[in-house]
Amino acid sequence: MKRHNFNSGPSILPEEVLRRASEAVIDFNGLGLSILEIGHRTPWFTEVIEEARSLVKELMGLDETYSVLFLQGGATMQFMQVPLNLLPVDGSAAYINNGIWGGKAIKEASVFGKAVTVADTADRSHSYINKDFIVPEGSSYLHYTSNNTVEGTQWHDLPAAGQTALIADMSSDIFSRPVAFDKHALIYAGAQKNAGAAGATIVVIKKDILGHSGRNISPILDYQNHVKANSMFNTPPVFAVYVSLLTLRWIKQQGGLTEMEKRAKVRADLFYQALDNLDVFTPIVAKEDRSLMNATFTTKDKALEAPFLALCDENGMVGVKGHRSVGGLRVSMYNAMPLESVQALVDLMEQFDKAQK
Ligand SMILES: *Cc1c(COP(=O)(O)O)cnc(C)c1O
Repeated sequence: MKRHNFNSGPSILPEEVLRRASEAVIDFNGLGLSILEIGHRTPWFTEVIEEARSLVKELMGLDETYSVLFLQGGATMQFMQVPLNLLPVDGSAAYINNGIWGGKAIKEASVFGKAVTVADTADRSHSYINKDFIVPEGSSYLHYTSNNTVEGTQWHDLPAAGQTALIADMSSDIFSRPVAFDKHALIYAGAQKNAGAAGATIVVIKKDILGHSGRNISPILDYQNHVKANSMFNTPPVFAVYVSLLTLRWIKQQGGLTEMEKRAKVRADLFYQALDNLDVFTPIVAKEDRSLMNATFTTKDKALEAPFLALCDENGMVGVKGHRSVGGLRVSMYNAMPLESVQALVDLMEQFDKAQK
């Protein structure tokens, strides 16, 4: 049976990436050694990480004022590493609370100082994006989540940060569309949703924002050390970096971020149109704020959720269940998702809708 992978993360990767990654585990570039067996300071691996870093910059259109790091600890580690490095002891930072992940970022920042929530969408279960807010003067930065993986909302324009440094958690929509990346002071993303395998976290930093917090930072958590060492302060996640490199090459070869966005729009249009037209399903998110990556919905009658999920299961559709914290249904349609999978799901939704009549 053909599988259709709607997992939210770790999630679908291009077949070519999987094939090349598996080949490298046995024999990396014909060396007679596995990628798992080579030192991170060998020319073999430094070439990998250098190409990966330069592809990130190229796809994002960033110049040498930015540094690209491959760190560990996931996006969750960045929730604390960002304030530790950038929030001065007596300073404050502005946060947008658009969902579960943004909420966790606020919790971590509060350990280090004053994290001011300037926009909060909890009043309507984070089913929309609140674009109307004021960043308090003197904020060290404004932090937002570009795509809310769990709730299914996405920023389609940048939040208005004014002169304040903008920081984005792009874990679930990085490399899915062209963005004014250069309007950001720092961007981070766990690689396992759109940029590779779990284990690597991509952090892009405008270098001049570092070194001003006045904090005593543990060396392993100090971005400056990682910048200086070109992501080799300690052993980087070698295999995960390689999978990211393969994924970045694939994105470029397919036509880059413009092409990724085009495909995402076609997939999302197909899905949301079905969702809006079928009586048995109900969308959750306000139309203008819907995510092109993660679509959340419910069945009109809660009792129909289990039979629909069973039908998905019978037809090889994986990952249609909503996040454990919110329930309902969710499908994730990341870069590697073929349109045929979305079409197959839509066909199944139509079939299910008809069967209820
Ligand atoms: C998945 C996700 C995270 C958490 O990532 P980890 O790598 O598990 O720490 C954080 N933010 C967003 C937006 C996510 O989608």
